[in-house]
Amino acid sequence: MLCFRSFSSAFPRSWNILSSYFAPTLRDAPADAVVVSHKLLTRAGYVRPSSSGIFSFLPLGNRLLRRISDVVEDEMERIGCRQVSLPLLLSEELWRKTGRWQEYGDELMRLKDRKGVSYCLAPTHEEAISDLVAAEISSHRNLPLRLFQIGRKYRDELRPRFGLMRGREFVMKDLYTFDKTKQEAFQTYEDVSGAYERIFNRMGLQWVRCVADSGAIGGNLSHEYQVRCPAGEDTLVFCKKCGYQANIEKAVAGPKIVSCEPADLVSILQVSGSVGSSSSSEVSMIQCKIVVPHQVTVNCVQMSHALGFKDVRNTSFTVDNIEQVAATDLKNEAFKDGLVVVDTSLSRLLPSALVADLQFPRGSGVCNEPDCERTLTTTAGMEVGHVFYLGTKYSSSMNVKYQDADGKGQMAEMGCFGIGVSRLMSAIAEVHHDENGLKWPLTIAPYCLHIVSMSNNSSVLQCMKDACFRLFSDKSLAHFKLASNTLIDDRMHLSAGVRMKDALLMGTPYIIVFGNKSLEKNEAEIHSRNSGQVSAVRLEHLNTVVQ
Ligand code: ATP
Ligand code: MG
Ligand code: MG
Ligand code: MG
Repeated sequence: MLCFRSFSSAFPRSWNILSSYFAPTLRDAPADAVVVSHKLLTRAGYVRPSSSGIFSFLPLGNRLLRRISDVVEDEMERIGCRQVSLPLLLSEELWRKTGRWQEYGDELMRLKDRKGVSYCLAPTHEEAISDLVAAEISSHRNLPLRLFQIGRKYRDELRPRFGLMRGREFVMKDLYTFDKTKQEAFQTYEDVSGAYERIFNRMGLQWVRCVADSGAIGGNLSHEYQVRCPAGEDTLVFCKKCGYQANIEKAVAGPKIVSCEPADLVSILQVSGSVGSSSSSEVSMIQCKIVVPHQVTVNCVQMSHALGFKDVRNTSFTVDNIEQVAATDLKNEAFKDGLVVVDTSLSRLLPSALVADLQFPRGSGVCNEPDCERTLTTTAGMEVGHVFYLGTKYSSSMNVKYQDADGKGQMAEMGCFGIGVSRLMSAIAEVHHDENGLKWPLTIAPYCLHIVSMSNNSSVLQCMKDACFRLFSDKSLAHFKLASNTLIDDRMHLSAGVRMKDALLMGTPYIIVFGNKSLEKNEAEIHSRNSGQVSAVRLEHLNTVVQ
C-alpha cells in the first residue's frame, strides 16, 4: 500500500522512511504474471510495466539493480576491465559494416531520424566498440584492452514475457576484449569465466556452465551460465556419466536428445524418421508418450538439423492428448526429420499431478561424447551470462588492427561477454523467495535492515523512534552507512499486520520488530529473512548487533 501521508514527520526525510518512499505494494499479482519472480517483483513494488516487455524500475528495483551492478563492476575491475558508456542509438551505416543490419533480423529495433537516416536501438555493441577501438589503437603496446559497460539493450523479442526475464528493453553488462594473440584471447576467456563464477556465487546463485550456441553474435567458442529453475526458458542437456552439459540449441547438432526427467516436465518428442505428408507411419515415429488428460494449448516448434536449428514452424494446437495431436499435426504440417520441442512454458500450465503420466523412452537420446553412451537428461535453465570467443570476426570487418613488434599489421583477437543484469533480478528472485515474499541475499539486497513496529500503541512507536535516533544520529561513517541501508516503516495509519506483510514481501534480510516486549522487557526482535531465525536483543545493544 502506498501512502504519502504520515504523522511521523519526526523522522528525517533523509532516512528511508516508507511513508514517502514510493514502494507501492500489491496484495495480488497482476493477471499476466505467470512466474513467481514477476509476481513478487511487481507485488513488492520493485517494478511496474510500461508496455510489452518494457518496465520502469521503482526506487527499490533501481537500488536492487544498483547492488547487482556493484558486484558485477567489482569483479570486472578485478580482472582489469574499464567501464565505458556507448551510445544506444547506432547508425545503419555502422551496422552495415559487419553485415548485421540485414542479418540481425526482426529483433533489431530500427528507426529513422527526421532526415530519413536509419538507426537501430542497440541490442549489443560489437560494432560500436570495434569502431571506437579501431580509431584509437595502432600498436601492440595499446593491447590488451578490456572494456565493459552496464546499460540498456533493445531487442524486439518475439515473445516478451515473464517480467524482467525476457524484456524488449533490458539491462545488460557487456564486456568486449581485444588481445594480440589467440592464446592471450583464450586466457582472457578464462579470466572472464572466473569473474563470472565469482559474480554468480556472490549473488547466491547455483549455476551451471554449458556449451552454447553463438547465435547472432557469431564466433566459435562459447559458454552460457545457466541457473537451473523451472521458470527458465532454455533447455539444458546433461550427461550424468561424462559431465557433458550443453544448451539444447547447441547440443542438437550432435547427439539426438530425447530423454527428460519427469520432474522437469520439459516435453521433447523425438521424431526418429522422416515425418511428412509422404510418410505413412507418423504415430510410431513419436517415441515419447505424453498423456495429458486436460485440454492445454501447446506451442510446437519444429527444429531442423539442416537449418541450423532455427524455428521453421511455430504452431499452436489445443489438444487433449499431445501424443495424438503431435502426430496428427506432424502429418499435416509436413515436419521434417528432427526434434519437436513442445514449448517449455507448457510445464508451467500443467498441474503437477500430470507429471506422473509422463513416460520417456529408455536407451534413446544418448550422449555421443567420446566413450560415452549414457542417456542424456534435460532440465530447464535461465541464461544469466554468456561468454564468446570471437576471434577476428569483428576486427576484420571493422578493421581493428595493430602493428606487432616486427611492424607487421595484425587483427586484434576479440571476445565478448554478456550478463543479463535485469534478468538476474528475476533469477535471484526465482531462487530466493518463500510464500510470503522475496528473500534477498545480503550481498545484493537493496537494504540490509527493515525496521517495523508490530503495534500501533503510541509508546511502542515512540520506543521505535527513539531506537532509530540512537542508531542513526551518530554521525560516524558506519552509522551513516547503516542509515542509508535501512528501511523504516513509519506508516502508522496502516495495521501492524499489513506493515509486517510488506516487510516480508520486500525481502530485506534483517527485520527489526518493535512490539509490546520492547516496552516490557526493553527488547526488540531481529528476524532473519533467510534463515527464519528470530532472536531478541536488548534495545541498548541494538547498536552493536546491527554493525
Ligand atoms: P536468450 O537466449 O535468453 O534470448 P541471448 O542468448 O539472446 O539470450 P545474449 O546475446 O547472449 O542473449 O545476451 C547476453 C545476456 O543478456 C544473456 O545471457 C541474458 O542474460 C541477457 N538477455 C538477453 N536477452 C534478454 C532479454 N530479452 N531480456 C532480459 N535479458 C536478456
Ligand atoms: Mg535472444
Ligand atoms: Mg541464448
Ligand atoms: Mg546468449
